[in-house]
Amino acid sequence: MIKSVEVLPGCIGCRNCENVCPKIFKVEGTSKVISHDYVGNETEILMAEAMCPVKVIKVEKEGNFTLTFKEAKLLDKKYLTSDIIELVLEKPKNFTFKPGQYVSLMFEDWKGKFSRQYSIAFDDEKTFTLTIRIGEKGRGAAQIKKLKIGKNIKFLGALGHFYLQNNKKEKYFISTGTGLAPFIAMGRHCDESVKKHFIIGGRKREDFYYAEHLAEIKNADIHYFASQQEADEKCKKGRVTDFLTNISKENSEVYLCGNPEMIKSVIEGLKKLGYDEKNIFSEGFTASGKNVGVLKEIFVNGNIPFVKEISWGIIIFAFILASLFAYKIGNETNYDDFLFFGNFNSFMFSISWWSVVFVMLIRPISDIFSKNNFLRKLKNFRKPLGILSSILIIVNFAGSWIFDPSLIVDYFTTIGRWNNLTALLARTSEITAVLLFLTSNLFSQKLLGKNWKRLQYLSYPYFITGAIAGVSYTDTTGAYFQYYGLVGVWVILWIIAFIKSHLNTKK
Ligand SMILES: Cc1cc2nc3c(=O)[nH]c(=O)nc-3n(C[C@H](O)[C@H](O)[C@H](O)COP(=O)(O)OP(=O)(O)OC[C@H]3O[C@@H](n4cnc5c(N)ncnc54)[C@H](O)[C@@H]3O)c2cc1C
Ligand code: SF4
Repeated sequence: MIKSVEVLPGCIGCRNCENVCPKIFKVEGTSKVISHDYVGNETEILMAEAMCPVKVIKVEKEGNFTLTFKEAKLLDKKYLTSDIIELVLEKPKNFTFKPGQYVSLMFEDWKGKFSRQYSIAFDDEKTFTLTIRIGEKGRGAAQIKKLKIGKNIKFLGALGHFYLQNNKKEKYFISTGTGLAPFIAMGRHCDESVKKHFIIGGRKREDFYYAEHLAEIKNADIHYFASQQEADEKCKKGRVTDFLTNISKENSEVYLCGNPEMIKSVIEGLKKLGYDEKNIFSEGFTASGKNVGVLKEIFVNGNIPFVKEISWGIIIFAFILASLFAYKIGNETNYDDFLFFGNFNSFMFSISWWSVVFVMLIRPISDIFSKNNFLRKLKNFRKPLGILSSILIIVNFAGSWIFDPSLIVDYFTTIGRWNNLTALLARTSEITAVLLFLTSNLFSQKLLGKNWKRLQYLSYPYFITGAIAGVSYTDTTGAYFQYYGLVGVWVILWIIAFIKSHLNTKK
């Protein structure tokens, strides 16, 4: 059961959530929860949560609620018009749908995972068919264009509550573009005795497709309206709204699908004509907002490309540096003149220090500038940089053990290492580095559960003792600024972040 749904600050208004679950989310600038009636919408809510690119949808649930994905093989793909593609997919086992429902196809591109909804146009024993408009610069459209026959496509569904009502009322199916898809399915499943009218809008005659499927539907008439073409024997010039006066008000139902603007104007028109609103059923193909340029996408929307790959790159870099460091420790006593970095040891310590500075500062900074999604996404690099920082500290004190294991005993028994405050703080830094390094993986996270988060608080003593160790090694005015100064900045940032979140909660 879903207990609560909340949109946290930081929404970028991408409309994924409204797209997937319009009953619960409405995006006007940013997303808002417009209904708390979660029953029957659980899958869509979880999908919205999973599809939110900035992870600001918080869903509180009870019990084991997870999304169950299916896979369908692409059997055929062809253009029906200049901008509509038909996909024929193999039905997975136990796949059923009600006419009017849709599936949510899952895609991944450089911005991350996302989904797009497509209504099922029709099916047979082994396949189901989708019709997809390929809009200019559409994100989903780009993926559809690339799909190759034979590829397995991951999807959710069938989903949605836009069904054909089970009664004998006359049916008016009004659509534009690919909004025709659910009506083909509905028309085919609708009782033969029920009178059906298909009112289809487009710009030109070439925009109309599936005449052969429409012709197979019994007891149906078809009315085409083309807005940018003169009338001919097949279609009238105009828009679907021109048909409204022909709709019988008695014992009828109107189904609308396609462009949300069209749906709005038809509903307004019908209401003006005195048509009973409870006999109108609609599904708008709400689209996400315009895709923006790469720079805006990265620095405003926070869609940093290759986050996973960069993170792995940093981890690999950490291990290469650590091996090099261990090699140097084992084979050379003179650390000076390492490339152009000067002292090799202090070079490694600097990398470790600046990595932990990033890890510590990015959290309060992104909390202060909570609307900046770029900063929010930078938080993804805390884990690999934490690994980089700790592994270098570990190699610094324990790298020599590989070459001479007796040094382990020496480490613990040399009194000078433990008998004064500075030495103890340096050891604290080393021990916390080991604990943080060992638990910086998913396995430990799962194993430790809630305690994992608590253990991560060790990064605070690690940072502070690292600063003290840094000052004690260097002991210059510059070092005071670099180490204590940054700890001071970190404390100030946390205070500001705390005050800001306190003020926000009060509001
Ligand atoms: C319940 C439901 C069922 C649906 N069923 C279908 C269906 O059967 N068939 C179907 O085709 N669609 C259907 N849709 C709509 C579909 O899910 C997508 O929203 C739609 O196809 C657009 O997705 P996209 O990723 O290609 O475009 P998006 O990237 O989401 O862009 C949205 C629109 O803006 C345009 N655009 C984006 N960026 C730019 C830019 N920089 N410059 C100019 N134009 C731009 C695109 O061309 C597109 O038209 C359905 C939607 C819902 C909610
Ligand atoms: S970022 Fe997109 S998906 Fe997330 S809440 Fe905002 S509109 Fe919805």
